[in-house]
Amino acid sequence: MQGAHSTSMPIQPTANIWHNGKLIPWEKATIHVMSHVVHYGSSVFEGIRCYTQPHGAAVFRLPEHMQRLIDSAKIYRMTIPYSLDELCAAVVDTIESNGVAPCYIRPIVIRGYGEIGVNPKGSPIETYIANYPWGKYVAGGEAADVCVSSWNRLAPNTMPALAKAGANYMNSQLIRMEADTNGYVEGIALDVSGYVSEGSGENVFLVRNGVLYTPPLANSALSGITRDSVLTIARHLGLTVMEQSIPRELLYISDEVFFTGTAAEVSPIRSIDRIAIGDGKIGEITKKISDEFFAIANGLKPDRFGWLTPVKVAAAETVSA
Ligand code: PMP
Repeated sequence: MQGAHSTSMPIQPTANIWHNGKLIPWEKATIHVMSHVVHYGSSVFEGIRCYTQPHGAAVFRLPEHMQRLIDSAKIYRMTIPYSLDELCAAVVDTIESNGVAPCYIRPIVIRGYGEIGVNPKGSPIETYIANYPWGKYVAGGEAADVCVSSWNRLAPNTMPALAKAGANYMNSQLIRMEADTNGYVEGIALDVSGYVSEGSGENVFLVRNGVLYTPPLANSALSGITRDSVLTIARHLGLTVMEQSIPRELLYISDEVFFTGTAAEVSPIRSIDRIAIGDGKIGEITKKISDEFFAIANGLKPDRFGWLTPVKVAAAETVSA
């Protein structure tokens, strides 16, 4: 989720990009306009964060992200010729060679140049990993004003919502642009049955009467790694957690609503369709979960769930409690 007040996110180049097993200069990581991916959206990708720590930096839930990349590729019959361990090592190599932390990491697998028919089998699979400096995604204040989108999320058995595929983000772009045009920070999309699904690039949670709710994956939501982290943290805080279908109007009468995502992290929502959520302030449970999430990600509390992969980079940003 990106704030309405900062709609541009220019890319900040680094020195190297990992391509098919080798680090190559950033500017050499180009593709031909006739590549399959350009015409048919044939890509799967990840978005991962590397956080600064008191004594260095660490990637948040690296194996889980790379496993989701492998899973996304499998759904689209793309064979990545690297193991999970090799892909994780490649991410670490890329970050260390570029020496940038905190950063965002973007692994992407595409169908390249070779076949222009829709059947992609004759196009090579190309794997790239880039990283670049990136701080906070949500801009403009404490909590976000969002809307329910007029666009639905992907219908079951059309575009598979569990694959993090480039083509899915055409739908996300419609949600995001509509929200922006109407003066909202982000849109919450419903699934084709009218149940709450997710934001254009975030999962959604709500709190009502002390219980934490989030839609199940069958409501066309991505299996977010942050979603999983929040569910884990909430259970350890002793909260009751329900993964169940959520009717639209439950959003309006919730005590607290927040987004989760690698980019959005834990982002409180202040209003939906101009209806104030709770008292319009960041809720107590949102704050508890958010504090725990950032304390673990930034290495200020022990990594008790084994979520951090250390990288050897001089931290560019100091971390405070
Ligand atoms: N839903 C969508 C559509 C997304 O693009 C993202 C971002 N990857 C998420 C949910 C959140 O997933 P994660 O926590 O793994 O970043």
